[in-house]
Amino acid sequence: MPSLPWSDIDTVLLDMDGTLLDLHFDNHFWLEHLPQRYAELHGVSRAMAEQELQPLFERNAGQLQWYCLDFWSAELKLSVRELKLETAHLIALRPDADTFLDAIKRAGKRVVLITNAHRDSLSLKLERIQLAPYFERLISSHDYGFPKENPQFWDALQADIHFDPSRSLFIDDTLPILRSARDFGVAHLLAVRQPDSRKGPRDTAEFAAVEDYRDLIAGL
Ligand SMILES: [Mg+2]
Repeated sequence: MPSLPWSDIDTVLLDMDGTLLDLHFDNHFWLEHLPQRYAELHGVSRAMAEQELQPLFERNAGQLQWYCLDFWSAELKLSVRELKLETAHLIALRPDADTFLDAIKRAGKRVVLITNAHRDSLSLKLERIQLAPYFERLISSHDYGFPKENPQFWDALQADIHFDPSRSLFIDDTLPILRSARDFGVAHLLAVRQPDSRKGPRDTAEFAAVEDYRDLIAGL
């Protein structure tokens, strides 16, 4: 991982799930817990549950409603909020994410969380992990009506927080989102090597990736 030119960076934009928090919670929830509980609550087999959920997941991936608990609760006829609480003990920081946050805040960088997570998912996580004090703003893309994948998200962010993309760093574990940020002109971009602690390292295509947050604060 290349070292960052910190003197050229005054704003740090950070994704939450898979970047600061272990993606294991979300992967486990959507791929294991939800199908299992869907099967139980609707009295169908686990295989049938998977068969019913799969096309819904495929149809809605990358759309804002994908991240909307109300959408899924209505679509699946169950309370996604309550089911998430059943697995909330799996919500965890990625290694040294707090060390990184502490260091950039101390260095006087402007730090803003930008997430596609629904406000409800965001609160569920912030109740368990003390992330809020590190940030000047906690922005859910639902506030703007466009997911981070959409160029209009970046226009709305610019109008809201007035940041200089040429002096900003953005870290996100989703490659299409990094590409969308790059198209907007965000100069410093990093992916995440291992967003889910239970899965192996990932190929991050054209993007350099955070391997270890402690390396990132060198030179700060
Ligand atoms: Mg993410």
